[in-house]
Amino acid sequence: MYTMFSDTIAAISTPHGKGGVAVIRISGDDAFKIAEKFIFPKSKKSFSEIKENSVFLADVKNAEGKTLDESLITIFRAPRSYTGENVVEISCHGGILLTQNILSAAFSAGAVQAGPGEFTRRAFSAGKLSLTEAESVIGMIDAKTNAALTLAQRGVSGSLTKKTEKIYGDITAVIGNIYAIIDFPDEDLERMTHDGMVEAMDGIIAELSALKDSYRTGHAVCEGIPTVICGKPNTGKSTILNLLAQNERAIVTDIAGTTRDVISETVVCGSALLRLSDTAGIRESADIVEQIGVDRSKKEIENSELILAVFDTSRPFDDEDEEVLALVEKAEAEGKTVLVVLNKSDKEKHFGEEKFAGYDVISLSAKSGDRAALSDKIEGKFISGDIENSGEEILTNARQYSSVCECLASVVSAKYALDLYGDDIAGTELERAATAISELDGREVSVDVVDHIFHKFCVGK
Ligand code: GDP
Repeated sequence: MYTMFSDTIAAISTPHGKGGVAVIRISGDDAFKIAEKFIFPKSKKSFSEIKENSVFLADVKNAEGKTLDESLITIFRAPRSYTGENVVEISCHGGILLTQNILSAAFSAGAVQAGPGEFTRRAFSAGKLSLTEAESVIGMIDAKTNAALTLAQRGVSGSLTKKTEKIYGDITAVIGNIYAIIDFPDEDLERMTHDGMVEAMDGIIAELSALKDSYRTGHAVCEGIPTVICGKPNTGKSTILNLLAQNERAIVTDIAGTTRDVISETVVCGSALLRLSDTAGIRESADIVEQIGVDRSKKEIENSELILAVFDTSRPFDDEDEEVLALVEKAEAEGKTVLVVLNKSDKEKHFGEEKFAGYDVISLSAKSGDRAALSDKIEGKFISGDIENSGEEILTNARQYSSVCECLASVVSAKYALDLYGDDIAGTELERAATAISELDGREVSVDVVDHIFHKFCVGK
């Protein structure tokens, strides 16, 4: 599906900055030829004499023959390397200028700059890892919580790939059976009965449904839930944002309508990650500057999945609160998750939970720092089960989720087609399902999708 790569690439694989050690990686057919031009083993051996997967000390020199560093060199011979190609790794001293100079020496010797994620992309093309495993590598690098790291590590170990391979195998077994019936109706082949096929499809549907449901957790842990805090001015939205963010990110004031802009923040609630925006109060305002903020707030609600609707119980419930509730009602009808926050519980109450029948409600005092209760409540709305110990496969991004949904819809159609329209339509639907699940782990996926995924990597990975 992909052309083999003709260039030999090089990049600094460790973060740019000062450090004890930095690693420069070179990968490609000509990695050893290129390395020999500027890396001189202390043992005086040529690269071809050096055992694969071994480490040795060498002088690294620039094009003018000046020694840049004494470095440890590791060589991996194709196909037994991360990329499946010949690989040379230079572990040098971790100076910013030094690593740049060594990389320049690699370029002078014939290597070209690696693009973002290009080493891992080559590994994928060489069949060293599936697309979901590659995505998990990004997940490990990006993980902000231990739960996210656990899911990424599980992904790298290939459990989701194994699961999707099994589902693919189950689907193709039914397809094979259907086409055997169509093509050789009279042959006495060993085949599944009609009930057997329905049973097999029910099993596939159950597995796909469990995967589909797992995305609510995976999305919350790995991607973060777009969240908005809404409410009329002065209900305590900024205070709640600061409480969740545990710092003074938003400016808290006593003057209604002073939070004019949408402020973004990523916060951790247990295993869940919230991508939070505070908003200007939802209040029709004559003030033109604030109006911009209010319009933006409504947009933020549209773009959010979780809405923290804040009401100040120390003041009577009024028309503005009613307006907020109407917006929240609309959002919930659209399938968004709503948590009603009754704030200022430290003060005398003018109204309570009775106003919010059917909603999940938490009563708190943001000013007094009731963070744990709020955080637990939010986490509980998205995370089910014990992530660390359950060992279940969990979808961690929208691409995987969309493939599973597509596959599931096609298997469900196939099951009905089997009874209503006949075997050939069922076979076509199942082929569609097989394609969708193949896209998930990258067996069948467009170059554009692959490009998109690997561009999320950093250079050097
Ligand atoms: P916003 O306009 O909705 O963002 O409201 P702010 O967060 O700016 O808060 C408005 C005022 O209410 C500030 O003076 C806060 O200190 C105060 N406030 C916020 N939360 C509480 C609370 O739980 N109890 C009390 N007593 N005051 C609060």
